[in-house]
Amino acid sequence: MSGRRIVLASGNAHKALELARVLPGWDVQPFGGGLPEETGETFRENALLKARHVHAAVGGGEWVLADDSGIEAAALGGVPGVRSARYAGEGATDEENLAKLLAAVEGRGDRRVRYVAELVAIAPDGAELHGRGELTGTLAAAPRGSGGFGYDPAFVPDGETRTVAEMAPEEKDAMSHRARAAAALLPQLPRGQSPHGDCPPE
Ligand code: IMP
Repeated sequence: MSGRRIVLASGNAHKALELARVLPGWDVQPFGGGLPEETGETFRENALLKARHVHAAVGGGEWVLADDSGIEAAALGGVPGVRSARYAGEGATDEENLAKLLAAVEGRGDRRVRYVAELVAIAPDGAELHGRGELTGTLAAAPRGSGGFGYDPAFVPDGETRTVAEMAPEEKDAMSHRARAAAALLPQLPRGQSPHGDCPPE
């Protein structure tokens, strides 16, 4: 892996992999320490909480990145939203969270959902940057596919018949909320490094 180092405020290996793919020139390295409780009411607040915590912990010498994301169901007024990772309880598995969402939406007639991702980057000097991305779709009747993570086995993007879990990683990258948030953030960042190790002028 080569590129300019950016420390990711997340313990989610799937997110780290996806972000590494959609941030060319950046070497996304997971933060090894603990993270603060996600007490914010919005994705942006939670991403800021995590990014500021890691910025303080690494002493300000590094670029820091945080992602907060989740799924919102129209029939549930946006739930589970910021509670997506713990919808079926603290420590719930992806399968338990997804089963709870499918049960909650069942019979309500409206199966529209959207993924939201907020990315916050903090520069070594403390400047805060952000990017947001969304992906709209509907919930499948039952989980299908083995790719991706979280709610992907039941998320059918608008214009698609397959779930995100039935797509190749690069197909998810071409449309995902996280890739769109990264595309919004990238132009605000200095350029990363080329694979040859030279750092282009900023
Ligand atoms: P957090 O951002 O760490 O609070 O957790 C986000 C949660 O939202 C994940 O644990 C998943 O349940 C869900 N989520 C976020 N992005 C995705 C995605 O790309 N696919 C499926 N589920 C996602």
